[in-house]
Amino acid sequence: MKKVLLIGTISYCLMSSPVFAQEIDAEYNNKIKEYTTDSRFLPASVMNVVDHPTIPSPLKHFGEIIGSPGVMHNTSKIYEYYQLLAEKSPHLQIKQVETTEEGRPIYVVIIGNDDSMEKLDIYKNHLNRLADPRITTPSEAETILESAKPVYYLNGGMHSTEMGSPEMLMELAYRLVTSEEKTIKQIRDNVIVLINPVSEPDGRDKLVDWYYRYSKTRTEWDDGYPRSAPYWGKYVFHDNNRDGLQVSQAITKGIFSIFYEWHPTVMLDLHESVPLLYISTGTGPYNEQIDPVTIGEWQVMANHDITTLAAQGMPVHLPGLFMTLVARIWDLGGKQPQFQRAIL
Ligand SMILES: [Zn+2]
Repeated sequence: MKKVLLIGTISYCLMSSPVFAQEIDAEYNNKIKEYTTDSRFLPASVMNVVDHPTIPSPLKHFGEIIGSPGVMHNTSKIYEYYQLLAEKSPHLQIKQVETTEEGRPIYVVIIGNDDSMEKLDIYKNHLNRLADPRITTPSEAETILESAKPVYYLNGGMHSTEMGSPEMLMELAYRLVTSEEKTIKQIRDNVIVLINPVSEPDGRDKLVDWYYRYSKTRTEWDDGYPRSAPYWGKYVFHDNNRDGLQVSQAITKGIFSIFYEWHPTVMLDLHESVPLLYISTGTGPYNEQIDPVTIGEWQVMANHDITTLAAQGMPVHLPGLFMTLVARIWDLGGKQPQFQRAIL
């Protein structure tokens, strides 16, 4: 279990005070400040993108920082950036896991230190064995834990109208492969990070097209045109997250393929609902197949993340019983967790 606890360091690491020996990209910093609407929403951990000599930042590659007003990237551009990172850094690989109904690729991006990248199959096998008590005795599990590394899986862009995560993840990947800041380095050394950059690529491209064609220049929202594309995927749209039992769509097959290949210790599915950050574990009833210890750990991690942000001056509201959600678990048992409880 001590390995599992390492996962919590991801959020901690991103939030701790940076002590850099590396060159910081001053232009990137200035743009972050310029584009953040309220300084209270600017924790120190979102500053200080590294100016790396050989690995291009999003600013160098795209000409704009991630989160620039009026800028959205389609899947070709997103995948191109990850391919570039894979070419320039030994600490990142990208692999296709599925093809969508309209022929677009779905990828998994893998990030880790030299040791992780050289022994991916070994670490994968460790978690495969830990995930299955039929093939692993308790004492074998204890031995495996001594050398296993946890896998943290970030899933982006499931709901295509929630357009932020495919953007944000590109910057996160850049930070994870370039920064020598102590705690980021700890993540790279101790955790294998998986990113599904856009889990619904068909929808992403429709929404980006729609944004540039209709939404970007509009000032009135009551002119009869919908705010977003009327459909996303070839067959389903927002309810693509209800496909956990049927597994009929490429998005689901892609996510399951990553899940069952890697047995991630934590899966964080990135969504948006209101223009505030919330970290929610849902309120139950939970799938009875999920160990209560695991459910308890979601709460621990969520509260840790919120506390860490509060320590950096973020205005935070913790409403009594409405505990928070750190990870929405893909529902294998037929009961969808209720996960969208706004808390801030
Ligand atoms: Zn969503």
